[in-house]
Amino acid sequence: MAAFDEVQILDVYHWNDTLFSFKTSRHDSLRFRNGHFVMIGLEVDAKPLMRAYSIASPNYEPYLEFLSIKVPDGPLTSRLQHVQVGDRLLMGHKTVGTLVIDDLKPGNRLFLFATGTGLAPFMSIIQDPETYERFETVILIHGVRLVSELAYAQFIRETLPRHELLGDMVSRQLIYYPTVTREAFTHSGRLTTAIESGQLFVDIRQTALDPASDRVMICGSPAMLKESALMLDRRGFQISPSAGVQGDYVIERAFAER
Ligand SMILES: Cc1cc2nc3c(=O)[nH]c(=O)nc-3n(C[C@H](O)[C@H](O)[C@H](O)COP(=O)(O)OP(=O)(O)OC[C@H]3O[C@@H](n4cnc5c(N)ncnc54)[C@H](O)[C@@H]3O)c2cc1C
Repeated sequence: MAAFDEVQILDVYHWNDTLFSFKTSRHDSLRFRNGHFVMIGLEVDAKPLMRAYSIASPNYEPYLEFLSIKVPDGPLTSRLQHVQVGDRLLMGHKTVGTLVIDDLKPGNRLFLFATGTGLAPFMSIIQDPETYERFETVILIHGVRLVSELAYAQFIRETLPRHELLGDMVSRQLIYYPTVTREAFTHSGRLTTAIESGQLFVDIRQTALDPASDRVMICGSPAMLKESALMLDRRGFQISPSAGVQGDYVIERAFAER
């Protein structure tokens, strides 16, 4: 069996100069849990150039969707940002990842902390009916530098609440809190500052974080992950120690520093 499958680009959407999304076809054999990532890439100099990508679409869709950074001199994304509908992409056979709701203990509220492309795995999680069956309230916090980096904002605010199957759950249970650091916006400043200062809870009219009832998933820059994990540890939250073992929170890097 070949090391990678070939899939086809079905759609491409550019949010701005640094961020784009694309949809691909999906092999029947590819099964995944919402929150998982997969290796995708292009053939460069007759060799596969592969990178980890979180799957942004929910696992019941017949296609796969990804949200990607454009790193100007990045080996993969300097090329990937130019893909067009009909182009071929390489994809691994296996999906993995730590951002799965099964690895969280039962709770009332689920907090999703994302910065940048760290939003991607949470896009699949907020489109999973099981998320709303397991948690009464789901709070998605997306921190970015620029307003144009708030990918999927309109989809989350306007399309999802009208979704045929999920609409009612989303309208009643999902709270979306975008925050921007380098431009004026409704909510500004770092995600961790909004939590530490308590401003987030004032803005969304919710009580402060409590390990007895709250569960957290974190995906973002290595610095944000470290800061958020320290903040949760200080409040008595316990990280899921390994895949398949439940904890109060789970983390995954949105990218690796090279
Ligand atoms: C578990 C996991 C899941 C990932 N999921 C995604 C995803 O859904 N979308 C995505 O765009 N990337 C994701 N990445 C990062 C991705 O694997 C690549 O690093 C990215 O596509 C850039 O590839 P590159 O070859 O162009 O540059 P690389 O050589 O891989 O990266 C060059 C530099 O660019 C910066 N960088 C890389 N990725 C990002 C990013 N996403 N945001 C901000 N800065 C970045 C880092 O400083 C890095 O050192 C994920 C990484 C991991 C480990």
